[in-house]
Amino acid sequence: MVQAYLHRTQSDVEALIDDGMGHFRLCKGAYDEPATIAYRERPRVTQAMHELIRTCYSAESRAKGAFAAIASHDEDVINFAKAYAYQHGLAPSQVEFQMLYGIRRELQTALVKQGYKMRIYVPYGTHWYPYFMRRLAERPANLLFFLRALVGD
Ligand SMILES: Cc1cc2nc3c(=O)[nH]c(=O)nc-3n(C[C@H](O)[C@H](O)[C@H](O)COP(=O)(O)OP(=O)(O)OC[C@H]3O[C@@H](n4cnc5c(N)ncnc54)[C@H](O)[C@@H]3O)c2cc1C
Repeated sequence: MVQAYLHRTQSDVEALIDDGMGHFRLCKGAYDEPATIAYRERPRVTQAMHELIRTCYSAESRAKGAFAAIASHDEDVINFAKAYAYQHGLAPSQVEFQMLYGIRRELQTALVKQGYKMRIYVPYGTHWYPYFMRRLAERPANLLFFLRALVGD
């Protein structure tokens, strides 16, 4: 897994691809990192995702065995990946998206119908509380989703 918001990620990804270890899950990054090491503005993070997709999907990188699954619910990122893949000769079956269980279900189904791979992230086990607190810290709006589910709305 690599986080696009980190300043170092683009060069890490290039170096790993050169070393034949270019198999990634690309995500934006969930934590509150300081500006000294991470992009903090949303458009800049999205741009970093686009740059990583370009790097991983290029013919040169693929010749070195690169593969990148796109872990995002952002249609800007998803549409960029689809367009770039199409323009560079990747079939939908060679493109994998990953999303969290229950988030943007219609988009998940639509992508599968279009022939893309879709992997769903399902947390399980006994450590649900720290996981839940991390997801809340990442996105406080999740508290509303949780409370609605709790009262059955
Ligand atoms: C499979 C998977 C694995 C991940 N692994 C890691 C990891 O190892 N390390 C890490 O730092 N981050 C990880 N993340 C989180 C990731 O870095 C982002 O914080 C998160 O996915 C939100 O970014 P986005 O690309 O979906 O775009 P955003 O612009 O943040 O979201 C687009 C839209 O999707 C919806 N959405 C997104 N996230 C949620 C949510 N949690 N709940 C409800 N709605 C939501 C909202 O409608 C939002 O407007 C992972 C994400 C996925 C899907």
